[in-house]
Amino acid sequence: MADLINFNQMGIVEPEKRLKQLNESGSNINVDKNQNILRYYRSGNEIYRMAKIYMQEGNHENAYILFLRFLTLFVEKIREHPNYKEVPADFKKSNKEKMTEIMTLTEKLKAKLLDRYKKEYEQFLIDQENERKKAIEEAKRKEIENAKNKSKISGPSAASTNVIMPSAPNFADLDQIVYPNDFPTDPKKPTQAAARDYKGLLPGTKPPSYDRLLKPSISLMEGGLRTLKIPDDTMKKFLDVAASNTMKNIETCGILCGKLQNHQLSITHVILPKQTGTSDSCNTMNEEEIFDIQDQMNLITLGWIHTHPTQSAFLSSVDLHTQCGYQIMLPEAIAIVCSPKYEELGFFTLTTEGIDFISKCTQTGFHPHPNDQFMEAMHYKLEKDKHIIITDLRGR
Ligand SMILES: [Zn+2]
Ligand SMILES: [Zn+2]
Repeated sequence: MADLINFNQMGIVEPEKRLKQLNESGSNINVDKNQNILRYYRSGNEIYRMAKIYMQEGNHENAYILFLRFLTLFVEKIREHPNYKEVPADFKKSNKEKMTEIMTLTEKLKAKLLDRYKKEYEQFLIDQENERKKAIEEAKRKEIENAKNKSKISGPSAASTNVIMPSAPNFADLDQIVYPNDFPTDPKKPTQAAARDYKGLLPGTKPPSYDRLLKPSISLMEGGLRTLKIPDDTMKKFLDVAASNTMKNIETCGILCGKLQNHQLSITHVILPKQTGTSDSCNTMNEEEIFDIQDQMNLITLGWIHTHPTQSAFLSSVDLHTQCGYQIMLPEAIAIVCSPKYEELGFFTLTTEGIDFISKCTQTGFHPHPNDQFMEAMHYKLEKDKHIIITDLRGR
């Protein structure tokens, strides 16, 4: 059917299909058995935090995807981890509380999204029908005009202006689609009874614009990486605090943290945890300390930065596994490598194939991987007018 082809070209598919795409994206998460299992619990907290921000911003699709990831991870995948039984009880308890809340929210979001998709689909069909009618009317009008022109050699008569034009589809109307309001999307509209338990949790957000309806907001689904903003002075300041290690040919590492706002990720802090380094490796200790600080300052993990005192800037096999752990949790997570010796800076990300391969690789220590598995990141932006804050926990 020609209509259906058009429909897909415009990026709008049937409501159930759209929801299915979100479900697939939400279940797309794997557990790397080489990663510290507590890091997944930690990342779970961040997913939860990020999803809440999306809900506040009215970005229900991304909130839904993240909640699904949380559920996929903790209802199912985490049990495959060899250290699952050793996870401390308090981690499991707070995780379970979140899970209960998320299950309720996810169900509501699902109903909400399906309802929205149905309305958009209906509206799309109405518009399409209007377009079709308009085209027929237009063809008729031309036919009449041609006939008149043939009979009157003197050109179009005044009568032609009397032809009644069919009304064009009014795109502005799309802005006024009223969604049943489980989650308030417009502060002016009264919310229904069902929204009561969300009061306070969800401040009013803007109603969807026409643009957003046709092109759903940049989504967490494949290919929709958000811009990652990095203060321009990050690398220099990090190298400064790493200098004494670097002189001794010892690696230094730090966690890149920051915030999510209006669909942009901004690095604001580098946290240097207690650590032990060698010339080609760096191990963090007391990760709970980082987590506490992040909790206090409401910072999410956006990647990591480390020095290569003796080597050029690249990702070693061990680095690939570390980066995989970050990137599974946040696709935009970046690995910055500073090589003072070769005067190189690398901003790296694993390729899609790389994530797939590394997350299945069970080897530890330095070991060869086929191909490169990583590439120069394309989604970051250095910001000249922003300054990084270095939080150094090593001496504490
Ligand atoms: Zn490295
Ligand atoms: Zn490997």
